[in-house]
Amino acid sequence: MGSLRLEHITKRYSDVTAVDDMNLDIEHGEFISLVGPSGCGKSTTLEMIGGLTMPSEGTVAIDGNDVTDLPPKDRDLAMVFQNIALFPHMTVFENISYGLRIQGADDDEIQRRVDDAVETLKLDGMLERMPSELSGGQRQRVAIGRAIVRDPEVFLMDEPLANLDAKLRVHMRTELQRIQRKLDVTTIYVTHDQEEAMTMSDRVAIINDGVLQQIDPPLTCYSEPNNQFVAGFIGSPSMNFIEGHIDGDRFDAEGVAIDTARLDLDDGPVTLGIRPEDIYLESDDPAPEMVGGIAAAVDVIEPIGEKMFVYLVPEARAEMDAIADGEADGQDHLLMSIDPDADIEEGQVVDVTFDRSNIHLFDAASGDALVHGIETESAPTP
Ligand code: ADP
Repeated sequence: MGSLRLEHITKRYSDVTAVDDMNLDIEHGEFISLVGPSGCGKSTTLEMIGGLTMPSEGTVAIDGNDVTDLPPKDRDLAMVFQNIALFPHMTVFENISYGLRIQGADDDEIQRRVDDAVETLKLDGMLERMPSELSGGQRQRVAIGRAIVRDPEVFLMDEPLANLDAKLRVHMRTELQRIQRKLDVTTIYVTHDQEEAMTMSDRVAIINDGVLQQIDPPLTCYSEPNNQFVAGFIGSPSMNFIEGHIDGDRFDAEGVAIDTARLDLDDGPVTLGIRPEDIYLESDDPAPEMVGGIAAAVDVIEPIGEKMFVYLVPEARAEMDAIADGEADGQDHLLMSIDPDADIEEGQVVDVTFDRSNIHLFDAASGDALVHGIETESAPTP
């Protein structure tokens, strides 16, 4: 079994708290991604699980056993890193079997485990090749092979696909998931790429500034982000944010007025979040769950194939910009993602509406989520 628990894990360097009071409870066989911007503490967290870095505080337990003070070799885990350090003068077979040989495994055992790994990784016929004779993807599979022959309880992976080209990276994502499912091994996977995290993981742990923001299944992080950071980090293109106020039973901002009577929110500054795909052209006669009808100028249109990205400058925002700095700079766009055949052009002013059920409201000061989805008047109370 390979359950993993981090309790109050903290890592301080002289003036930096790289990881701040992190708690994680991971079940056997789960695929968990640690994701967040560069420098947020992902690698440090992984290194503390692996035993490469000692925590300043807190404990790491594997299968209920406290391993905080154990060296990496006694932790029953295997690591795969971004820089694939294969031994250049050794064949694929020698590279994969190296760790087992060091451990003193006998020849039959080594052969059996390497054969298993070769089958899982589809490396047949390559055992006698040198690393220089392999493609990037094959080299990465050999690196994974080295890890899996050790039959660890836990896999730790730090951006293992980062050096591959885009197409191969997408292919290897699927491969890694297949391998992980087949081996049924708990996997902690570090990436800065939210799309990679979302597509591969059972649960995504989003970290910012050393602090765990949320750990949930990908779609929960997407549709019910704990706070504005997660809302902005997960999803591409990013969620739009509009600063406004709750005043009595209303939210008001930049021409958006929403009846919030049912939500019982305190008066004060609140940020509205709406994803590009939840904004519609009013002229498309969308469903009655829409709110808004705000006027916005179409600044730039980007066709990307199955969708069209439309960069809008709401008229209210342009007016505020003009008051603030004398001219409308149009930098702060509202991004809408709509069908590519929509009949609009740059320079035109359009009315857009928001899908109420996908409106998020965040406390402006703390960034904490207040509400996901605003019910229509006619909707039944839960
Ligand atoms: P990530 O993997 O998310 O990019 P890291 O875990 O590598 O982030 O780093 C988190 C923070 O800790 C960063 O501010 C980084 O500069 C700092 N840090 C990491 N390792 C060290 C170290 N050995 N000494 C001092 N600061 C470090």
